[in-house]
Amino acid sequence: MVKLSRRVCLKGLVAGGAGTLLGDTVPVKSVDAQAVDEPARKTPVCATADVVVCGGGPAGVAAALSAARASARVILIEQSGCLGGIWTSGLLSYWLDVHNKKGLTEELMTRIEQAGGGGFSPKGQRTGVFDVEITKLVLERLCEEHNIEIFYHSRVVAAQKLQSRLTHVILESKSGREAVAAKAFIDCTGDGDLGARAGCSFALGHPEHGKMQPMSMIALISGVQAQEITAFYNDIDDRQPWAAPKDRLYAAMEAGGHAPSYSKPSLFRVRDDLFILMANHEYGVSGISQRDVTRATLHARKDIHASVDALRKQGGVWQRVRIVATPEQIGVREGRRLLGRYTMTLDDLKEGSTFEDAACKASFSVDIHALDPSKNKGIDAAPIRVKPYDIPVRALIAKEVEGLFFAGRCISGDFFAHSSYRVTGNAVAMGEAAGRVAATAAGKAV
Ligand SMILES: Cc1cc2nc3c(=O)[nH]c(=O)nc-3n(C[C@H](O)[C@H](O)[C@H](O)COP(=O)(O)OP(=O)(O)OC[C@H]3O[C@@H](n4cnc5c(N)ncnc54)[C@H](O)[C@@H]3O)c2cc1C
Repeated sequence: MVKLSRRVCLKGLVAGGAGTLLGDTVPVKSVDAQAVDEPARKTPVCATADVVVCGGGPAGVAAALSAARASARVILIEQSGCLGGIWTSGLLSYWLDVHNKKGLTEELMTRIEQAGGGGFSPKGQRTGVFDVEITKLVLERLCEEHNIEIFYHSRVVAAQKLQSRLTHVILESKSGREAVAAKAFIDCTGDGDLGARAGCSFALGHPEHGKMQPMSMIALISGVQAQEITAFYNDIDDRQPWAAPKDRLYAAMEAGGHAPSYSKPSLFRVRDDLFILMANHEYGVSGISQRDVTRATLHARKDIHASVDALRKQGGVWQRVRIVATPEQIGVREGRRLLGRYTMTLDDLKEGSTFEDAACKASFSVDIHALDPSKNKGIDAAPIRVKPYDIPVRALIAKEVEGLFFAGRCISGDFFAHSSYRVTGNAVAMGEAAGRVAATAAGKAV
């Protein structure tokens, strides 16, 4: 092996495009055990767009498509290596609150169905469950058709403002630290990462004690036959009382030697031999703490494997049950709720509020997964019955930062309203509205 001098090595790195390596270290006279000094730096602007969408989940894909249809040049920045967020990286491809939606929600479902990824009951009814892999492919195809530039494996880590106007997002990837300039930005990161970096106020968790809903790791399972396990899942053709199949599934797992952390484990049929299993709750963890997410992930994966092993031990219809995949990303139900020009409240849901600037109509129930496992490991009793209500566009516009919009679970709302509007049918419709508004803000005719 040829030994190179340090000087030659560094020169080579720069020539190979790794120049920032040289600028990422500062010589220090002593080491501070509590903190490090980072060098001030010039971050290259690697791209410009009319609209930059951060986060490629249900809300982000919809926002990007809708902005592109309004003639905006769009860049979509996603930290993982696929589009779809919870539908794909999270493996939970069961779309709720879609029945009252047309527009992109209906269009996306139809496109996935045309590609062979739609779930249908034996009587041909749409189940709302979709094939994860086909969903990934269709979302990428749609973005390609609309000339949306996707930046994968790129995490938004900072924001640049000129006075109160957002001018750039800063991302980190294998290419280093880079800035992207745009006329308008949409935060669809779920956790409100961009809004927080740009200086928006935000709320987290329950108003009394700050606890957040549990996270859940999903699994895709196979080795079962739908017609043999009808007692254990709810079929759209022939609905059983909500809790009955879940209670039977819990009992089967418990009898096999493992009581799952979620007391209402649920199966959703993707195909006759492929199901989504949701049987895990990780309590008392925050989606914006790396340590918490890691701890929850490590525990959840053991829990979900133990649940499936317990089923297999039962033999009979379960004798060949196997986990096909656990997700790369544990499901995080709630993160930051960014402050918008309007904040959705429980009263809006109670009264069925309507707004002139409605982005969409939502009707999903107040769905709060147990916050305190010592009292309940299922779903907490809902404080109200929801009347179908509007989500106004004002809840998607940042109050304190110009040029910034939100869509999906990080929009402006209280803890209770969030537990209803957060589901993916609404996330898509919000993204669609935010994309249109951001394109207009960027000077594009809609
Ligand atoms: C366990 C669980 C079960 C659920 N069950 C259902 C259900 O059955 N049906 C239903 O409709 N809804 C369900 N929901 C709710 C629903 O999934 C979410 O509220 C929905 O995902 C909201 O969409 P989103 O696009 O806002 O967020 P997400 O789906 O979370 O997408 C956010 C995207 O942003 C990316 N991202 C995050 N941070 C950054 C960053 N800093 N830089 C770049 N990219 C970033 C992520 O990788 C992800 O792709 C469930 C949620 C969970 C967690």
